[in-house]
Amino acid sequence: MTERKDQLAANLAKVEERIAAACASAGRKREEVTLIVVTKTYPASDVRILSGLGVRHVAENKDQDAAPKAAECSDLPLTWHFVGQLQTNKVRSVVGYADLVQSVDRARLVAALSKEAVRAEREVGCLIQVALDAGEKERGDRGGVAPGGIGELADLVAEAPGLRLDGLMTVAPLTGEYAGRERAAFERLMDLSTDLRRAHPAANMVSAGMSADLEQAVAAGATHVRVGSAVLGVRARLG
Ligand SMILES: *Cc1c(COP(=O)(O)O)cnc(C)c1O
Repeated sequence: MTERKDQLAANLAKVEERIAAACASAGRKREEVTLIVVTKTYPASDVRILSGLGVRHVAENKDQDAAPKAAECSDLPLTWHFVGQLQTNKVRSVVGYADLVQSVDRARLVAALSKEAVRAEREVGCLIQVALDAGEKERGDRGGVAPGGIGELADLVAEAPGLRLDGLMTVAPLTGEYAGRERAAFERLMDLSTDLRRAHPAANMVSAGMSADLEQAVAAGATHVRVGSAVLGVRARLG
């Protein structure tokens, strides 16, 4: 276990250095960017080590893995983010541990989250997931609402009991006009965030950037980066 701890500490230090360097070259303060460690496919023991190393935000993308992990780690001072595509039949479980859901992308999901948040007497932070590769479609292949749908969905979240509208999230597209243009994609997300904040000034979270492209996200103005493999190692299975 100490070997794993040393490995995670070393990886975390490297990621921290990358974030600090990206902030410095963008003329941003380090405190403007929050690191969320994506612990999907890795065990609760890793989450516990990371917590001991000072990590305060973790993210998961599959309820069946996340629910038992969060239960095992419920004594730790962690904020849990849900970042995966979310089916409405999993919402009750997710609301049991997730402080924020970053993958809100349709009205039906807003209704389900609100109902379960009220029932659980919890407030759930919501990010609208934006699909920059949706093209003419309403939603992207990997979840997310097309930019034109953000306003309506944001109003729904803002009015929903038990929910708090916190901002926007995206994943750099693999296809479409932004494929291979992470910086441009994240700048587009920032513009959409500026639009959103005209109607919802407090919704100022911008979640973008992963292990491969966190620098571009920080340069564009992201407030939160979601880093998995650079901290925990390359995942054995897709997740
Ligand atoms: C897995 C995942 C990440 C982290 O990806 P890495 O490349 O491992 O850093 C970030 N965001 C979402 C939505 C993910 O599913």
